[in-house]
Amino acid sequence: MHWAEVESSELTEKPLIATGEAPSGPIHVGHLREILTAEAIARESGGDIVLIVDSIDPLRKLYPILDDSYEEYLGKPLSEIPCICGEHNNYAEHFMDPFLDSLKAIGVDMEIKYAHEMYAEGEYEEATRRVINNRDKAAEIISSRTGRDLKDDWSPYNPKCSKCGKLGNSVVTDFEDPYVLYTCECGHEGKADIRKDDGKLTWRCDWAARWWILGIDCEPFGKDHAASGGSWDTGKEIVKQIFERDPPHPVVYEWIQLKGEGPMSSSSGVSISTEELLEMVEPEVVRFLIMRTKLNTHIDFDPGLGLLDLVDEYDKYEEEHFAGDDGDIKKIYELSQVDVLPDSKPQRIPYRHLVNLVQIYDDHEKIWDISQETGQVIDPTEKDFELMKERAKRVEYWLNNFAPDMVKFSIKKEIPDLELSSDEKKFLKEYHDSINEIDWTSEELHRLVHENADKIGLNKGKAFRVFYRILLDQKRGPRLGRFLSQLEKEFVQKRLKKAI
Ligand SMILES: [Zn+2]
Repeated sequence: MHWAEVESSELTEKPLIATGEAPSGPIHVGHLREILTAEAIARESGGDIVLIVDSIDPLRKLYPILDDSYEEYLGKPLSEIPCICGEHNNYAEHFMDPFLDSLKAIGVDMEIKYAHEMYAEGEYEEATRRVINNRDKAAEIISSRTGRDLKDDWSPYNPKCSKCGKLGNSVVTDFEDPYVLYTCECGHEGKADIRKDDGKLTWRCDWAARWWILGIDCEPFGKDHAASGGSWDTGKEIVKQIFERDPPHPVVYEWIQLKGEGPMSSSSGVSISTEELLEMVEPEVVRFLIMRTKLNTHIDFDPGLGLLDLVDEYDKYEEEHFAGDDGDIKKIYELSQVDVLPDSKPQRIPYRHLVNLVQIYDDHEKIWDISQETGQVIDPTEKDFELMKERAKRVEYWLNNFAPDMVKFSIKKEIPDLELSSDEKKFLKEYHDSINEIDWTSEELHRLVHENADKIGLNKGKAFRVFYRILLDQKRGPRLGRFLSQLEKEFVQKRLKKAI
């Protein structure tokens, strides 16, 4: 059984599944795992998803993308900091909006709730009151589970100073319902109204409070929260003891790492955004990356050559799904679809073939013609053509931004100025003369290199290399048989003639 089916079997009918997002910096692909985990479970269980954006959280550090002018906003709620580019309502939305657009493209449908609005509209009032009135109980749960000594003046509520605007720099002195009295580091003494966005519950209490406020049945979260003494450990006790409610069904997932770089993190700059990923591969492949991996297994995402394997793997699953697989492959393929399943198997040009084709031809129509001539696609539909064009655009983006140099080339319009040995010339002549006797396929073209090199007694490495030299003016290039088959026969014949 797929993990989404296993988790769903633990849930009541039509569960409400929560996810969270803290938009304090660029939102990288790692965050997709939480959302798509929730989404897969929602699909399987017929549930709904709510995404709570921690927009009232303060900015805690200056990200590399921020200039020094943002220093004055440290400590202020993300919803009250100006947007970086000026096109969004605030700092939080600057990062959320493109992420939400990507999620839409990936087919995720969910309710979005901004925490600063929930506080401003009084949705947290009763929960905040409860936690403050049970301050000692909350403190006991947190200190016993985390081993942390909480100070006598610890409060589960962080006021936002009405003078300096900073949240979390105050000492709470009293609670005169509905006002929390505080003294801020800046010297200001004020009172925060728990019916408004004058402050917020501390994270561990806030998490439990939202389960109760919204009636959450299930929540996926990263393994950091799940560690002993982590926020799950305290949250489930707080919700039981203070809100007298069962905690949601927990679903713990592992990180997505950038291959060779360790866990993705926006603050370290080791990251790829979801928008970028969607420029490189189809939304179905993005979903597939998450759906095919067990929750407790980390994902080593490789935006270089590994990306080719990922897309190949997706195509293979598609193949097997349409060949009638009815196990996990079928389920993973289904969960990878943005909306409805295709009626019939799409005819796809493999991503790695397009890596060559887009570098040979600058015209998508031409690529399509070649693909039909070489039998790559047979009686394709208009839809197949659209899929090819979409993929070709993504391949171009990948080549421009992430591909290693070794896969890049450009065909020289004229034969490069180079000296060939007499053996090399002899070899090319034999090759030229035998071309008409074979089918223009990668296997045959490849076989012919071996055959003619043997005939002349030319070293195989040299035989392959001479093609790259006369076509690309390089010593290396793409796999030769496939590469030649993607070129027009006439062009290859002409180039061989010139070389001889
Ligand atoms: Zn202050």
